[in-house]
Amino acid sequence: MLVKEDLQEFVQEKLDDYRFVVVSNRQPYEHVYNKGKIECRRPSGGVITALDPVMKACHGLWIAASSGEADHRVTDRFNKIEVPVDNPAYTLKRVWLNKQEEEGYYYGYSNDALWPLCHTAFQRPFFKQEDWQHYINVNQKFANAVMEEIGTAKAFIWIQDYHFCLLPKLLKDMAASNQLIIAHFWHIPWPSYEAFRICPQKNEILEGMLANDMIGFHTHYHCNNFLEVVDRQLESKIDRERFSVIRRDHETLIRPYPISVDFEEINRKAQADNSQKIESDLAEEFHLGNCQILLGVDRIDYTKGIPERLLAIDRLLEKHPELIEKIVFLQVGVLSRIHIAKYKTLNDEINFLVEKINWKYSTDDWSPVIFTRSNMPSSKLLVLYRMAQVCIVSALHDGMNLVAKEYVAAHYDEDGVLVLSQFAGSARELTEAMLINPYDSEQFSDGLYQALTMPEEERRKRMVKMRQTVHENNIFRWAAKFLSGLLKIEFKEQEVMVV
Ligand code: UDP
Repeated sequence: MLVKEDLQEFVQEKLDDYRFVVVSNRQPYEHVYNKGKIECRRPSGGVITALDPVMKACHGLWIAASSGEADHRVTDRFNKIEVPVDNPAYTLKRVWLNKQEEEGYYYGYSNDALWPLCHTAFQRPFFKQEDWQHYINVNQKFANAVMEEIGTAKAFIWIQDYHFCLLPKLLKDMAASNQLIIAHFWHIPWPSYEAFRICPQKNEILEGMLANDMIGFHTHYHCNNFLEVVDRQLESKIDRERFSVIRRDHETLIRPYPISVDFEEINRKAQADNSQKIESDLAEEFHLGNCQILLGVDRIDYTKGIPERLLAIDRLLEKHPELIEKIVFLQVGVLSRIHIAKYKTLNDEINFLVEKINWKYSTDDWSPVIFTRSNMPSSKLLVLYRMAQVCIVSALHDGMNLVAKEYVAAHYDEDGVLVLSQFAGSARELTEAMLINPYDSEQFSDGLYQALTMPEEERRKRMVKMRQTVHENNIFRWAAKFLSGLLKIEFKEQEVMVV
């Protein structure tokens, strides 16, 4: 089993001469005002969940966009702050974006063009020229922030996600040759050529990304899609043996590394001393009574299949009225990207469905669906995972989905059933989950029924197996595998055996 200390040792030994820099859009900690006081919060999202433990282990510098209204009050003149504030382990450098940049680069090109393009969840992408211009400018702004920090020092730059397709090339153009090792992890799916070729800026995107020394995806399938897109779109050589692209004498390695969570930390926190108290508070807050709990935890996003989940709950109760007053479906839904029209429409659709289902089945003191929009702190969330007999992850398409892995890691009691979409990356590893097709209400609702009525022995057998998988393929192993895959190329070393 590879643990945090192994990763620390590995980074110290192999990357000692290099500055360790992570770049992402979302920052791991934001500062906001609460009743006149400045409070530090952890925004929700898979990238943060995955990278924060890695950075705590490796120290280094994390560069990200500011998102909290009080962020500027706590940073130094270089826009930096040590985090976590109560126990500093690494440096966060904030990049300030103005309203127009945020609108064009974040809401526009990243989330109204690239996000739907890559998820193929039947939502049309919009490619607006002005959004693209902001995307270029913001990528340049981040490139400047990186170079301002590292100067002429050697650095390993680890770029996260689809917000920064142009950053690798911008950095390589600005730095001295051999100064930087650049790797990119793509947290969302990579689409087929058929889907990708509609993008008007496809060549610029691919050119930007091929300045990386390595690009990681969650699955082999996404790697193959990427290679096919490059092969059909750009003049380049695909080396099928080495699984790489060579363009203008530069090689980019393409590798599958399924991301994960800090299993041990989640397992430990889920059974913290105060968990009994949190459990009774949650039961009271949400009027859970003695009902069996089905749980959903998501950013409200059209790729997460939340309306499909509600329709399956409706169908479940239609087919099994004996479950009335016996179960409750609790959805934790964090509002996300509400400036984009599609997200607003989705919210309205979810409200309508919750209302409709509750109207149809509610009794005097019971409602089947409870929907809470609060961003739940992890201390509460982990207890809630453990309380839920069933967790529903019904993404229409998802790179990985860390909620599925968190649910498994939090079930130290080795009980509970994960109902998981076959279209989430995590379904490739968590094969003992109850796999469903979210587009098929009949099969989905039958899966929910089976989950609720599964014999204890069967539940345990599946949960133990899934816990082993997440424990072994934890976030530190992911990071070590990623880095060792890269070092093998850069330093022509033997790939470090990460077992
Ligand atoms: N999350 C959270 N509070 C909430 C809801 C979600 O901290 O109220 C976290 C959740 O625990 C998980 C992450 O947000 O770590 C969501 O990651 P996932 O990969 O499932 O989806 P993404 O939002 O990145 O698409």
